[in-house]
Formats: sequence, C-alpha cells, structure tokens
Amino acid sequence: MRSVTVLGATGSVGTSTLDLVEREPERFSVRALTANRDVEGLAAAARRTRAELAVVADESCLPALREALAGTSTRVAGGRDALIEAAAGADWTMAAIVGCAGLEPVMAAIAGGGTVVLANKEPLVSAGELVLAAARASGATLLPADSEHNAIFQCFDFDRPDRVRRIVLTGSGGPFRDWSYDAMRGVTPDQAVAHPNWSMGAKISVDSATMFNKGLELIEAARLFPVPHDRIEVVIHRQSVIHSLVDYVDGSMLAQLGASDMRVPIAHTLAWPDRMATPMPPLDLVALGRLDFEAPDETRFPALRLAREALTAGGARPAILNAANEVAVAAFLAGRIGFLEIAAIVADTLDRYDPPAPVTLDAVLAVDAAARVRTVERMKDGVA
Ligand code: NDP
Repeated sequence: MRSVTVLGATGSVGTSTLDLVEREPERFSVRALTANRDVEGLAAAARRTRAELAVVADESCLPALREALAGTSTRVAGGRDALIEAAAGADWTMAAIVGCAGLEPVMAAIAGGGTVVLANKEPLVSAGELVLAAARASGATLLPADSEHNAIFQCFDFDRPDRVRRIVLTGSGGPFRDWSYDAMRGVTPDQAVAHPNWSMGAKISVDSATMFNKGLELIEAARLFPVPHDRIEVVIHRQSVIHSLVDYVDGSMLAQLGASDMRVPIAHTLAWPDRMATPMPPLDLVALGRLDFEAPDETRFPALRLAREALTAGGARPAILNAANEVAVAAFLAGRIGFLEIAAIVADTLDRYDPPAPVTLDAVLAVDAAARVRTVERMKDGVA
C-alpha cells in the first residue's frame, strides 16, 4: 500500500489523480486531500477515498467541511498552516495547487521526503533552485506531471546529459493560434478558457491562450533538466499528440506520444518506475493521419519572449514574471482587463521592479508579494 496525498484535490489535475487512485484501492491509500474553498468537492472526494485528513486552506470554510464530513473517520483541518502541515508525510504527493500559493506546501512535501509530483509549475518557476536544493537535502524524488516535462523525463538520458543536443517542448498554440493580433483584443474569458485540446483549470487555460504557459514551461524545463537554456526550444504542434522531444547528438530524436489527457502522465508518476493501466484507448495513428509543426509567433504571443528573457536574466525575474502573470490573469478572468493587456502588464511589472536575487524561501515570497502589489497598482493606473 502506498500512501497518497493530493494538494489541490478538487481541481482539474487533482480530480484526474483521484480518478486513477480510486481505480486501484488495493494499491493506494489516501492520507490527505486539500482544497482552497470547495467544501463540497473536497468532502465528496474524502468520503469516496476514505481519506485520513481533509484540509481547506480558507479557514472560514472549516465549519462547513466539518459538517460535511461528520460521521466519517476523516479528520478535518483549516487554514494555511494546516495546509502546509498536511503536505508532508505521504509516500507519494501530487502538488496540484494552482499558482505560487503552492510553493510552501510543495516545500513542506519535499521536506517530508517520499515522491513529490509537480503539476504545480509556478513554484518551480519562482523558486526553482530552492525547490531542487530542498529535494537534494531531504532525498525526496521529484517527478514532473506536466505532460511536456513528463514526456521529456521519459526520453531523457540522465546518465549522459551531455549527449542531449536539444529539448523540444511542444505546445498546441492555444485557442487563438490562428487569430490576428487585432482580433485577440476582444477575446472574452469564456473564449480563453475553452482550450482546443485539453480540459484544465481556468488559470492554466488562460496561460495556454497567451502562451505564458509555454513560457513557464520553458523555465520549468530549464530547472528540471541539465541542459543549457539556449538548447530548449518550443515548437507549435496543434494536435497535442507528441508531448515533447529530446534530440541527441547522433541525430536521434526521442518523443513521447499519448492522448491529451492528464491521466497519462499522472499514471506514469503514480506507478514509476513501474507502469499502470489507464482507461485511455491506444492512440489510433491512422485515424490521426498527420502531425503538424510550426514555429511559435512571438510577435502575436510576446509571453514566450518575456519568459525566455526572465530565464536568461535569472535572479528574481522568473518570480516577478510569474507573480505579475497570476495577478493579470485573475484580473482578466474577472473582466477587469483585456486579453492583450495580460502580457503588457507583465512586461510593465518586469520593467519597473528589479530587486536582487532572492536566495531564501522568505525572500522569494517577499518578491512574489511585492510584484503582486506593483502589478495591482499599475492596473489601477491603466497600461497597454
Ligand atoms: P484548478 O484551478 O483546476 O485547481 C486548483 C486546485 O488548487 C483546487 O483544488 C483549488 O481548490 C486549489 N487552490 C487554489 N488556490 C489555492 C490556495 N490559495 N491555497 C490552497 N489551495 C488552492 O487548477 P489545475 O488543476 O488546472 O492546475 C493545478 C496546477 O497544475 C497549476 O499549477 C497548473 O499550471 C498545473 N497543470 C495543470 C494541468 C491541467 O491539465 N489542468 C496540466 C499541467 C499542469 P478549490 O477547488 O477549493 O478552489
């Protein structure tokens, strides 16, 4: 029996994770499930899985959670400290909170040892070196659940990283890949959240539409795989069948293919180094017929360029990029700014805020908080 904790259990990745866990109850027992405010979803998941512990990060939701789980053996807790405490101690932990809000829980999970699976990419972007150092110190195994990074992980020869010529990250290009820049001015939140290939939470869906997601993934790949930054490339592959590739010096390119369903990479991390069955049918290559590739357009989608610049500059830049993007995406989803303003606002915050490199967790959190304040201030003044 492997004990499993799911941070962000009510979200898109969390739900996919529990779908797999629940298919093999003899193999997995659920230690802790967490959510922010979704009491109903969390309580239902805790009842189904007989979780030992259920935690809401928003403490005001604790009475409702207590009531929803009355009469069960699941213990309940609420608040940020309870969330961080719950993150440590499982054999296998899925980090699937959205945004930098997941950073402290991820660090707690890593400190607890075991296997920590990162879907939550923002902590790696903002505090990559600290996350990796913590894993080295505790002996925790980090596995990537993001489909691209999971694909690279499956193809990467960690014993011979110097034989890797390039990493090629694929991206669908999002729902507006064929739209003109002018047409994108009028994009609504509903349009941005409707991804052509993947069903995901609202924030990452908007990130996919702006291509900030690919930018964050570029930084994530640079953290996870020992290759120089300039050897990580992005290619648009609209079918989302090849999830990424590793190009070796001898001219061999290894790719991982699969359905656009997060249960495939999550299953890889759940069973690793073994394999487990998923409900996905085999890919029908003949029905697919063709796979297309094209270069990304960094004029219509400046996010990728901004992310590459932040990665190259290093220091606090990735954390600022991430924090400003989180604030701008929330404002876009709330109808307060236009779609094209997201990248403009992130660029503006990066222009105006340039603190020294943060070297501790507290310093990263301080940069994150200060970048958010500055982004909100700029939005009040109006940019773009
Ligand atoms: P969702 O928005 O669907 O779910 C987010 C989860 O985090 C929910 O359980 C939510 O709880 C919880 N949460 C939100 N805010 C907080 C907070 N402040 N404190 C504690 N918990 C919080 O997100 P996704 O599942 O789409 O994405 C999760 C992460 O995985 C992101 O970093 C994303 O980039 C990454 N990822 C997602 C993929 C996908 O297919 N969705 C693919 C690859 C990576 P509640 O429900 O109560 O709000």
